[in-house]
Amino acid sequence: MSISEAQRADITQARAASNQTRRPTVPALEEVLFEPLQVLDHGFVRVIDYMGDDNAIVQAARVSYGRGTTHPSDDRSLIRYLVRHRHSSPLEMAEIKLHVKLPIFAARQWIRHRTANVNEYSARYSIMDREFYLPDPQQLAAQSKTNRQGRADQPLSPEQAQAVLDLLREDAERCYDHYEEMLNEDDQGLRRRPEDPQLARELARMNLTLNFYTQWYWKVDLHNLLHFLTLRSDSHAQYEIRVYAEVIGQLVERWVPAAWGAFRDYRLEAASLSRQELQCVKQLLRDGTLDLKIMGEMTQREQREFREKLGLVTLGKEPK
Ligand SMILES: Cc1cc2nc3c(=O)[nH]c(=O)nc-3n(C[C@H](O)[C@H](O)[C@H](O)COP(=O)(O)OP(=O)(O)OC[C@H]3O[C@@H](n4cnc5c(N)ncnc54)[C@H](O)[C@@H]3O)c2cc1C
Repeated sequence: MSISEAQRADITQARAASNQTRRPTVPALEEVLFEPLQVLDHGFVRVIDYMGDDNAIVQAARVSYGRGTTHPSDDRSLIRYLVRHRHSSPLEMAEIKLHVKLPIFAARQWIRHRTANVNEYSARYSIMDREFYLPDPQQLAAQSKTNRQGRADQPLSPEQAQAVLDLLREDAERCYDHYEEMLNEDDQGLRRRPEDPQLARELARMNLTLNFYTQWYWKVDLHNLLHFLTLRSDSHAQYEIRVYAEVIGQLVERWVPAAWGAFRDYRLEAASLSRQELQCVKQLLRDGTLDLKIMGEMTQREQREFREKLGLVTLGKEPK
């Protein structure tokens, strides 16, 4: 993770400051407030601000006047009920603002989540850093044969991985060299080569490769954040965005532990069943046989996914 001395000084100063407030705060999240948590080789996630806690969800659900008078276990049960039944608006009362540094190709996936507020670093206004993502060799794998959108389980051999990394590094370095050449600008903003033009930053940036890092502030409410985490923590999501979702998940657990627990139980580590799947499960439990007629209504892929949901290679006894 590359944080300059000046940026580190800003973070240290922000972390040393303390403000008085009547609003509820969450000590576990305050502990990591402003601190960059490393993701990938140069990326990070840091919490800039947040509003609300588990109690804010309960307060909103009850439209109450204060911090609540009921027993904490009632509050936890209420949060679990809300998450279980997708009664989402009380969860929209809690919000978090993150500063994220991520490769451009991951940002392209992330930005598809429209229910957040974003302000991205402007490469029209500022100069991009010479910072690009190079995967860990373990993450370099061939195209998957079963999943057109993914990579195979087996990593490339060390020699093949090295060759790929060399290409990625050379391309990114060369593109950045040309970017600098087109900008024709030194640290003070003066021309390096007085006879040549200084191409506008908004144009010079267009040759940079997708593994260059960008940054943004991203503000989202808890309901939409959990939706983001459902999609991007999933094994079908690309590794490079999944690792961000994992770090954010840890932050959410610090911030709203009761909501996080309910989310894990009812969404993240849960599974939904189709009508056919439910019928099959009922029959399996009843007499240990499979309804082949119902199974026949499912595609091969659905059947495979059904097995995965149940953690099974085979599905019970075939009917006689
Ligand atoms: C594994 C994976 C693979 C993907 N592959 C591709 C791909 O190949 N190509 C591609 O283009 N995208 C792809 N996506 C992106 C995906 O289709 C969604 O755009 C993205 O995940 C954002 O989800 P969302 O719309 O639910 O989230 P948000 O934009 O945050 O929206 C949250 C919810 O709000 C509602 N909502 C938001 N905006 C609208 C609207 N305009 N109209 C109606 N309802 C709305 C919907 O209920 C939505 O679920 C992929 C996503 C994943 C996780």
